[in-house]
Amino acid sequence: NEKSNENQSLKSSVKLADVAGLEEVKEEIMEIADFIKHAEKYKKMGAKIPKGILLYGPPGTGKTLLASALAGETNTAFIVASGSEFMEKYVGVGAKRVRELFERAKEKAPCIIFIDEIDAIGAKRNEEGQSECNQTLNQLLTEMDGFKLEDEKIIVIIGATNRIDILDTALLRPGRFDKHIYIGNPNKIARKQILKVHTKNKPLSKEVSLEKIAVKTHGLSGAHISSIVNEAALLAVRNNREHITQLDFDNAIERVIAGLKMKNSTVS
Ligand code: ATP
Repeated sequence: NEKSNENQSLKSSVKLADVAGLEEVKEEIMEIADFIKHAEKYKKMGAKIPKGILLYGPPGTGKTLLASALAGETNTAFIVASGSEFMEKYVGVGAKRVRELFERAKEKAPCIIFIDEIDAIGAKRNEEGQSECNQTLNQLLTEMDGFKLEDEKIIVIIGATNRIDILDTALLRPGRFDKHIYIGNPNKIARKQILKVHTKNKPLSKEVSLEKIAVKTHGLSGAHISSIVNEAALLAVRNNREHITQLDFDNAIERVIAGLKMKNSTVS
């Protein structure tokens, strides 16, 4: 459809401070941000920065958030696409969309292209069949080879996937997605930091302990924690409370975990 073809392009207001935990990853993102902001300095030194960055790991852990923070920190356009948008049953359509994506990026440069679910385009190519997939991936490889970061127009491509293991190795080669950063589920300290970020502008009752909530949310992602906080706020409203209480959080955790169990049981 036309809409998915027009990958969203916007200025991002997300900052690295909105991303909780992931300290080492944020440092790497800062380095890339510095390059985007002071490209001259790097050019003079002959230093290269990765053109493509692959963020991989379980869902809901902040990959999209990080990419948008890079755009926000550098005040560059943020072009968002999803790998599944490029999969079409008609041969050539996917490749054409990839071409258009890069055309847009060149117009908007400096910019960050974010391709979520890159595995939908970038799964290992095979000899027989699937020529549409192969064409789309080949087009992506061609586009990535086609511009240099030394050019005036800086385009940084960030891909995200939960399945790095199925990606075609051609995509991971130098000059393409040559920097791979693993983003895992948050540990207790990170969960507490995520809770802090997400409760920042919410009225919390005095007895609320983010520490306790962090302990109870073991194994959950940042996305789960964000929905727990929202669920707790909704419960507080429903109960006509002025503040969100620990009980609201406990009930919200139960709901989110029950929802997950239900999802898992329908999958298996
Ligand atoms: P997917 O693989 O499903 O696309 P993702 O890794 O891209 O997931 P995001 O879309 O970045 O996940 O995260 C979803 C939401 O979860 C974010 O918008 C944010 O509200 C919250 N979140 C996840 N990780 C963090 C984090 N480290 N700090 C703050 N919020 C987070």
